Amino acid sequence: MPWRTTRSIERRSWQRCSRRRASSTWSSSPPCCTSRRSRSIASASRRAHPERSEDPMPEYDLIIRNGNVIDGTLAPGRAADVAIAGDRIEAVGTVIGTARREIDARGHAVSPGFIDVHTHDDAAVVRDPRVDFKIMQGVTTDVAGNCGAGVAPANEAFRQFYPAGFAPILGESALPWSTTAEFFAAVDEAHPACNVAAYVPHGVVRYNVVGLSKEPPTDVELQQMRELVDEGMRAGAIGMSSGLVYLPGSNAETPELIELAKVVARYGGIYTSHIRNEGDGLLAAVAEAITIGEASGCPVQISHHKAGGPHVKGLTKDSLRFIAEARARGIDVDVDVYPYTASSSSLAAMYRIGRGPLFEVVPSIIASVKYEHEKYEGKYVADIARELGMPVGDAIQKILHDEENSPSVIMFIMDEEDVRRVVADDHAMIGSDGRPSEP
Ligand SMILES: [Zn+2]
Repeated sequence: MPWRTTRSIERRSWQRCSRRRASSTWSSSPPCCTSRRSRSIASASRRAHPERSEDPMPEYDLIIRNGNVIDGTLAPGRAADVAIAGDRIEAVGTVIGTARREIDARGHAVSPGFIDVHTHDDAAVVRDPRVDFKIMQGVTTDVAGNCGAGVAPANEAFRQFYPAGFAPILGESALPWSTTAEFFAAVDEAHPACNVAAYVPHGVVRYNVVGLSKEPPTDVELQQMRELVDEGMRAGAIGMSSGLVYLPGSNAETPELIELAKVVARYGGIYTSHIRNEGDGLLAAVAEAITIGEASGCPVQISHHKAGGPHVKGLTKDSLRFIAEARARGIDVDVDVYPYTASSSSLAAMYRIGRGPLFEVVPSIIASVKYEHEKYEGKYVADIARELGMPVGDAIQKILHDEENSPSVIMFIMDEEDVRRVVADDHAMIGSDGRPSEP
C-alpha cells in the first residue's frame, strides 16, 4: 500500500472538485456540490420556519467564507466560500448552510495546501512533527529524501557517517531505524502535521553498501544496492533521488544510476537528481539525467534547476530548450525550482566541486556552523576574510578546518532572469529546497 495515502484524501477531494469545476463556469455553486447545496437550501428554509425543526444540526464542520479562492487550476482567484465536512471539501461557491465553525477570510487568499516538491525535512518530520516551518507557509505536503541525502536505510556504518556526512543538511538524528519501511513507520508514529512523501536517497544507499569508495560497485554490491532501493520502493517511496555533487553520490557513474533507476521504474517511481554540474557543465549534466531516465524507463525530475554563477548567466534558455526537446522525443522530464537567486549548500561540497573562485565574485554568507565558531555565522565570506586579514580562498580553508567541514553557505549565484524563466516554464514545479532549523 502506498505510504500515507489516507492523509492525502483532502487534496484528492479538492482536486476532484476542481477538475469537474474547471469544465464549466459557475457562479453561486460548483456543479460537484449541487446535491449538498440543495440540502443547504432545505436547511435554510427549515431555519426560516423553526416550528418545522427545533435545532438543525450544522451541515458542515467548517466554512471559510468570503476568501479569494485560488484553486490551483490556473483560473484567476474569485470570491467564494469553502465548506468542509470531516476531511472532505464539500462545497466551493456561495455556501448557504451552517457549520460548527466559520472563519471570515475576507481579504485573505484561500487555496489548497501547497506541495513542497523538494525538501530536506527527512529527520525534521520525526524530530519536530509540528512542522511549523511548513504549515506556517501553507505547505501541507512535504517531499523529502532529495539530492541523494536522507536518513534511511541506515546500517551501523551509515549511522557513524551521518553526523558529519548528512546532518549538516538534514539536522541531527540518531537514526533509530534500519530499513526505509522502519523509517516510514517512525514518521507515521510521529504523526507530522503535514503529509510526507519521500525518495530513496541514492547517496545513502551507496554509503550503506560501499561507503566512500570511488570505485564502481561489483556485481554483488550493485545487487545489494538494488535490494535497498527495492525495499524503499516497496515501503512506499515515490522514487529515487541522486546528489551527484555530494559525497558519496558524486562517486557514482551513470551505469550504476541506470541500474538502480530500473528498480524504481518497476514501481512507477521517479528519478530526481541534483545533477553533476549546474555551472558551465549544465547541459552535459542535464543530458546525463535524461539518459538515466531514457535507459531505465523512469520519469525524470531535475532538481532546483538553475544556471549557477555569473559566467553562465542565461544558460537556462538552452537547458530548458534541451529538456523540451527530450520531452518531444517522448521522455517524461520536468524540473523543480526554488524562486530565489541564492542557493544554499554545504560549504565543503561547493568548494570541492570547484566553486572556490565564485566566492571571490558572488556574495556568499556562512549560514550555519556546527561547533563554537558562531563568529562566522550570518557573515559574508568576504567580510570574514577581511577580518582575518587573508584572501577569500584562505579564509574558506580556515572556516572549513575550524568547523570540520560542517558549515553551510548561501551563495547568490543566480541571475534573476534565469530564475524567472525557469519558474515560468510549464514543466517547472516549486520546491523550497528547505532544510530545517534545529529545534
Ligand atoms: Zn540539491
